[in-house]
Amino acid sequence: MHFWSKLFIPTLREAPADAEVASHKLLVRAGYIRQLGAGIYSYLFLGQRSINRIIAIVREEMDRIGQEFLLPALHPADLWRESGRWTTMGDNMFRLEDRKGAELGLGMTHEEVMTDIARRELRSYKQLPQIWYQIQTKFRDEPRPRSGLLRVRQFIMKDSYSFDLDQAGLDRSYDLHDQAYRNIFTRCGLRFIAVEAHSGAMGGSQSQEFMVYTGAGEDLIVSCPKCGYAANMEKAASRLAPVQEMEPTGDGMPELVSTPGKAAIADVTEFFRIRASSDIKCVAYMADVPGPEGKPSWQPAAAFLRGDHSVNETKLMSVLGATDLRPMQAEELEKWLHGPAGYLGPVGLDRAEKINDGKVNVILDKGLNDRRNLVCGANKLDYHYRNVAPGRDFGWTVVADIRDVAEGEGCPQCGQPLKVARAVEVGHIFKLGYRYTESMGARVLDASGREVKPIMGCYGVGIERILTAAIEQGNDANGFWLPRSIAPFDVVVTVTNMADEALRSAGRQVAADLEAAGFDVLLDDRDERAGVKFKDADLIGIPYRVTVGRKAAEGSVELVERATGSMRVAAIVQVAADLQAFSAAQQLAGIESASGTV
Ligand code: ATP
Ligand code: MG
Repeated sequence: MHFWSKLFIPTLREAPADAEVASHKLLVRAGYIRQLGAGIYSYLFLGQRSINRIIAIVREEMDRIGQEFLLPALHPADLWRESGRWTTMGDNMFRLEDRKGAELGLGMTHEEVMTDIARRELRSYKQLPQIWYQIQTKFRDEPRPRSGLLRVRQFIMKDSYSFDLDQAGLDRSYDLHDQAYRNIFTRCGLRFIAVEAHSGAMGGSQSQEFMVYTGAGEDLIVSCPKCGYAANMEKAASRLAPVQEMEPTGDGMPELVSTPGKAAIADVTEFFRIRASSDIKCVAYMADVPGPEGKPSWQPAAAFLRGDHSVNETKLMSVLGATDLRPMQAEELEKWLHGPAGYLGPVGLDRAEKINDGKVNVILDKGLNDRRNLVCGANKLDYHYRNVAPGRDFGWTVVADIRDVAEGEGCPQCGQPLKVARAVEVGHIFKLGYRYTESMGARVLDASGREVKPIMGCYGVGIERILTAAIEQGNDANGFWLPRSIAPFDVVVTVTNMADEALRSAGRQVAADLEAAGFDVLLDDRDERAGVKFKDADLIGIPYRVTVGRKAAEGSVELVERATGSMRVAAIVQVAADLQAFSAAQQLAGIESASGTV
């Protein structure tokens, strides 16, 4: 049992001025965390208790499938040079030098270190499969740390790595993680959804993210309420409704039209009296495509898509094999496309024959394939073409899906209208393949004595993300409530008046009984007014409150469930049994709502 009067729980009435999302405001107000710098936080007593409970759940589930390690956060640069990521990680990696001038990096993730152990130690197929995990601090110099603990520069991750002899083995290790993650997030009381994710330019094959819907999230999830299809926006596809083509003018061949001052799509469509779906939009980029030894090489890329569609830069980057994109500058537009912004088009471009051969990569979005009688810029100030048809009037380097899906478009599986909503990623599982065992030279002997590369998977859970997602999921103007499994305490016993000896001893009794029954109890024994105590109890995330007040004289107390505010009177003599029943009923309801997962 803990006595509030002796604890440091610095609750605040006001949230920090820069806090936007609920979890950020409430973590600070509830005294869970304090900020040290941008994206750097200290975890105080309540925060650390909750983090510890999350870690315990993660550890228990991971111990069923893997073995716990603890790897260093300090990594020699040479190890990262071997995989090529010393360069490609760019500014996201914190770097330092030791006293001898040797370069080091702070670990953002641990594929390199794990693969180094595997290549030194694993010799035979008989030692496979292996699943190695750790719960450890990661450092990432995020460009935009924000939202309290949602995106920080130092955080705790459970990361694991699997080594298997073949694809079938990897499939098994992946499925084990899939199940372990479902167990973890269910036990942490999250209403999550597993979605198809983009596997990146890393040569992986299958990837799934575990997401919790919340407006505070930075990811967009596309889902189909009808058939259950769900994917991250970076991966999602959709069926487009058929488009009614415009009538051609003249002989139906491209016609150069003077369009002075009509640079914006809205102006162009008004001028030609067409819908935006009949306009070809151009978005021009310079793409960083790492060359040999990871040296950056900036390649020109022009993306063409429907005027009413938007480019998904992750999709585009993976088509190009790029690690970064930036918009073309005016001089670059002149150099590569020979026209100014607002008047760019695909007709007559000297394009790359294959991706990144040094000329302009012309990427045509699938949504424009087989279309005709379109309008596009003429790569000439104040001019457009009309009657343009892809294939007949211009070619491309590749056709690919490079656009964002929009709400209401057809599900790729069943055709029903799709939904788009914000979510936060709490975990990620990924079939990595041979990238690291190849580049870092890990080999084992197979049954026939041949040297083979083990195949890898990697898997991550953000510990703080679980806490923040849970808060985003359950909060109101007065505070938040955590699922019992990850709350710092199961129940707060609020004694309304400590000056009253009878109440004091009743409070002690109730707290002791609850503790004996297995509850983690916080006894609010402070000399504060009842109102202050209720306010604090509502704020700090504890799922149940037992109020020891006036009714104690008659032998009863009040049980309050924070999430719903529902209240029940219980006899002091059986308070533990009553709270047990009360919380069991709530947990059942929780499991039902969590089962809406895919
Ligand atoms: P994001 O897209 O949110 O940046 P990521 O793809 O970089 O995530 P991974 O490298 O797969 O994430 O890391 C595994 C898990 O670590 C993520 O699922 C997330 O829960 C957590 N995580 C990643 N970056 C951060 C961060 N900056 N702050 C807190 N948690 C993080
Ligand atoms: Mg990231």
